[in-house]
Amino acid sequence: MKDKLEALLDQALSELAQASTEEGVQELRVKYLGKKGELTSVMKGLGALTPEERPVIGQVVNTVKSKLEEAFEVRGGEIREVVKSARLSAERIDVTLPGRRRPLGSKHPITLVTEEITSIFGALGFAVAEGPEIELDFYNFEALNLPKDHPARDMQDTFYFGESVLLRTHTSPVQIRTMLKQPPPVRIIAPGTVYRCDSDATHSPMFHQVEGLMVDKGITFGDLKGILTLFISQLFGSDIGVRLRPSFFPFTEPSAEVDIACVICRGKGCRVCKETGWLEILGAGMVDPEVYRHVGYDSELYTGFAFGMGIERIAMLKYGIADMRLLFENDLRFLKQF
Ligand SMILES: [Zn+2]
Repeated sequence: MKDKLEALLDQALSELAQASTEEGVQELRVKYLGKKGELTSVMKGLGALTPEERPVIGQVVNTVKSKLEEAFEVRGGEIREVVKSARLSAERIDVTLPGRRRPLGSKHPITLVTEEITSIFGALGFAVAEGPEIELDFYNFEALNLPKDHPARDMQDTFYFGESVLLRTHTSPVQIRTMLKQPPPVRIIAPGTVYRCDSDATHSPMFHQVEGLMVDKGITFGDLKGILTLFISQLFGSDIGVRLRPSFFPFTEPSAEVDIACVICRGKGCRVCKETGWLEILGAGMVDPEVYRHVGYDSELYTGFAFGMGIERIAMLKYGIADMRLLFENDLRFLKQF
C-alpha cells in the first residue's frame, strides 16, 4: 500500500509539472485530493489494514497529502506569475510617449475685459453690484431724471414688454437700486448686459456696460477725474493721453465725455480715430441732485460721481478688433486668439 501511495504521488507530481493553466492545476487537485479523488479512495482502504499497519500507512497518507497540497500551491503560484507577466507585457504602456492634450477653452474677450475692469476698481475699493436685466421704467428712466416725456429717452432705443416693463438700456438702474437699499457712502461698479434696438458694425442689440458710482460727503469733480485717469492708465498704459470734454447726460450735472489718445496712431490721426487723434471711451459726471431726490439722499450733504462705458468698445480698442459682430459670432478661429 505504501508503494501504491508513492506511485500515486510520483504520477500526480509528473502530471502537475505538465499542467500549464490554473484550470489544469485545479482539475488535478480534484483528481487527486477531491472527495472522489485517488488519494481519498486509497484512504478508504485503510479500514482493511491491521491495527499495527494502520498508523504507519496513515502517516504515509498524510505525508503524501501534504506534499501534494504544497506542490499544487507552488505550481499554481508559478502559473499565476507567468500569466501575470504575459499580461503585463501585453498591456505595456510607454510612459515616455508625450501625453494627449485636452483641448482647453479660453475666456471670451468680453469676460477678460470685464474681469480686468472689475479688478482695477476693486483695488480702489469699489464693490461689484448687480441687478435684473428686465427692469421697470422707474429704475431705468424715471429715477434717473428721465420722465416719460423727456426728449433724452429718444437717445436710447428701448425694447419694451409693456407700458412699464423693459429690457434695461444701461446698467444705471443698478445705481438706483443700490442707493435705495443703503445710505451713503456708496462705492460700486455695476457690470452687466444691456439691450437696445440697434445693430450694425459698431452696435449690437445686446451689449455690455460697466457703470460706477461713488457718493459720499465732499466728493468733487477732481475725484472723478483722478479715479478715471488712474483707471485708464492701468487699462491702457500710463503714457496714454486722457482728456475730458463737456457733455450732457440727464442723470449727471456737470457731465463729461472722456477720450483717450488713439491707441492705434498714438494721437497722430488715423482712420480709427477719424484723424482726430482721440477716441471716446466713457461718459461721466457729477450725480444730478434730482437723482438723489428719487432715492432719498440729501443732496446738500452728499455729492458723488457716476460713469459708464461700453465693454465691447474697450475690448475692441484694447485688442484691435475692427468689427463688434466678431464678439458675438462665436467663431472659434477668432475666440482662440484670446
Ligand atoms: Zn488714430
